[in-house]
Amino acid sequence: MSPCQNCHAGCCRSFAVSITGADIIRIERDLKLNFWDFVCRWEDREGLITRGQAPQFYFDDEPEVPFAICLMHSQSQFFPQSTKCRFLMEGAPDRDFPLGEARCGIYGSRPSACRIFPTRLSSSGQIAEIYDIPSHGRHEQLPIYELCPRPWIPADLDPVQTVEDLVIARFEQLFFQQLARVWNKSPQSWASFPDFIRFVYEKRLIRKTADELEAEIPATIPFFRAA
Ligand code: SF4
Ligand code: SF4
Repeated sequence: MSPCQNCHAGCCRSFAVSITGADIIRIERDLKLNFWDFVCRWEDREGLITRGQAPQFYFDDEPEVPFAICLMHSQSQFFPQSTKCRFLMEGAPDRDFPLGEARCGIYGSRPSACRIFPTRLSSSGQIAEIYDIPSHGRHEQLPIYELCPRPWIPADLDPVQTVEDLVIARFEQLFFQQLARVWNKSPQSWASFPDFIRFVYEKRLIRKTADELEAEIPATIPFFRAA
């Protein structure tokens, strides 16, 4: 049984989840939501959210402040002194589960960062590694911020799906980093950020005619040329 079974989802309560443009486009499309319904920017002066992995973005209203692009949090229904991912569906606490059970409300469309937790790609990029999870996800030692009830083991995860998710996550992270470099050369307003994201990601799919494709194929590869 996965450690997530019957869990109160301390991970979805503790962490600011960094998202990529691909995550934004997918959630907008699948959930019929607007950018402003679920995306926020969190100050990340110490780099504690992006951790050298996710990009930081700058905006013209606070040009000195690096921001992480994240999922919004909202107040917990049953533990109002705490917050949670706005997509987390909470169950009421009871005698068997004093912290309640909880589940992701957008499981099929959840961001890459959520799909790969708690794994990372090995330095070779070939193998998924499970890393140790601390007991709490936030410095406030509230029980609701406790993390996984037991250490994860390889049998908890599908090896093929896990590596695929990690490879996609890394690919999209690198693309989003490139985007940040372009944006940060001349930061615009936070209000214009959704249009920028939409513009870039729509351009990731283009159509080419057969003639254009053939013109790109080097003559040294006759196999690919029309007979
Ligand atoms: S805290 Fe750990 S066990 Fe609980 S839902 Fe998150 S990943 Fe699963
Ligand atoms: S999107 Fe789902 S899995 Fe990710 S933090 Fe929110 S509730 Fe948890």
